[in-house]
Amino acid sequence: MEVRSCPGCGKLFNYLGPTTPACPACMAAREEKFQVCKEYIRQNPGANISKVAEDTEVSVKLIKQWVREERLTFAEGSSVGIECERCGANILTGRFCNACKGNMTQSLNNAANSLKPTPEPVKADPRENAKMRFLGDK
Ligand SMILES: [Zn+2]
Ligand SMILES: [Zn+2]
Repeated sequence: MEVRSCPGCGKLFNYLGPTTPACPACMAAREEKFQVCKEYIRQNPGANISKVAEDTEVSVKLIKQWVREERLTFAEGSSVGIECERCGANILTGRFCNACKGNMTQSLNNAANSLKPTPEPVKADPRENAKMRFLGDK
């Protein structure tokens, strides 16, 4: 068990992991805000992130975090201000755009395929080992 001070109110609390970064009271308040945001976006599908932040009194940072976590999804055409972490394209939710997600799934599949056991067992080359030791001794 790890005791941390709450980033919201400064009180000490038992830190349970990255999904609960604040004390129970602040987490409950945050969850309440999340519901308000979610409802607001549902009723105002064209609203952009700063408008949502303004009208719900939730910080843009927190809304962006929820968008990254894919808890909030903005409507097509609204300027969320969230960029794909890979190519920088404007996206509506999550961390990557659809094109990058597609590419990544493909390269993951390729990686999985190349990991399939090769019929030839790889033998350790004693000369390679000697070289490694030599480099390590430097
Ligand atoms: Zn707190
Ligand atoms: Zn992308």
